[in-house]
Amino acid sequence: MTTSVTISEVGPRDGLQSVDRVMATEAKKAWIKALAEAGVSEIEVGSFVPPKLLPQMADTAEIVAFAKTIPGLDVVALVPNLKGAERAIACGVDKMSIPFSMSETHSINNVRKDHPAMIAEIKAIADLVAQQPEGQRPYFEVGLSTAFGCTIEGPVPDDQIVRLAEAAMEAGVAEVGLSDTTGYANPAQVTRLVRKVKAAIGSDKLNTLHLHNTRGLGLANVMAGLAEGISTFDSSLGGLGGCPFAPGASGNIVTEDLVFMLEAMGIDTGIDLTKLLKVRDIVAEALPGEPLYGFTPDAGLPLGFKGIAA
Ligand code: ZN
Repeated sequence: MTTSVTISEVGPRDGLQSVDRVMATEAKKAWIKALAEAGVSEIEVGSFVPPKLLPQMADTAEIVAFAKTIPGLDVVALVPNLKGAERAIACGVDKMSIPFSMSETHSINNVRKDHPAMIAEIKAIADLVAQQPEGQRPYFEVGLSTAFGCTIEGPVPDDQIVRLAEAAMEAGVAEVGLSDTTGYANPAQVTRLVRKVKAAIGSDKLNTLHLHNTRGLGLANVMAGLAEGISTFDSSLGGLGGCPFAPGASGNIVTEDLVFMLEAMGIDTGIDLTKLLKVRDIVAEALPGEPLYGFTPDAGLPLGFKGIAA
């Protein structure tokens, strides 16, 4: 099993977009800075969606500019389409990710694009990335969303996911990730799907899992992913938020619990858990009354626990 893992904190994007209130820009900056100081090396800081659609993300350009001043931090943004990608590239993001729903009904409902139209959009973005001068090309990744099931269609056939992952790679993306948008995934399914997709597109082209804890299986699914060589896991501080486009889906896996599990197992996350736990205060203060989840924050660290980074 792997000895180190990257935790990609998605709270400022996935978390905040499902909170009705808009977090103040200064609070977002303080949060991101504190995360980085705790050792978080990759943060999805926002989404380049039209502000009319998601006012919570209206300051993404300013947040990216701020995050880029933090040394060593990989700054990720979500882009829904070519227009969003143009803005993300102009802001100099290190990495951008587009959600590609494996359920065609979900895709049509949310972004009014069927699968061929999404592949065309992904190709247009990949071409745009390729046209950028060397050294200024963001890493472009596709998140295969609703890969473990859809609230409208139910199960999505594995073969369909494999076929669409291949199509995304052919369109020119750097890699794909699997997203459990709806919190339907179970560990056996994670094992099976990761194996199938890796076998089809190359084992180094699927490195990331985006998991939710909707049914309490988030960390069990992480274990299944680890065993298949997954090296990056998305999570959200305090399990903030969920997916506004998937009714019933709530809460990314909790970063604090994920860090605790991995560090306790001797897997290096680079994150100082004691520092990370204090970051919650910033979010709690900026969004009073907003539920923050996590077992480790409630229970505290076990006596004698020493994280690798601590
Ligand atoms: Zn999510």
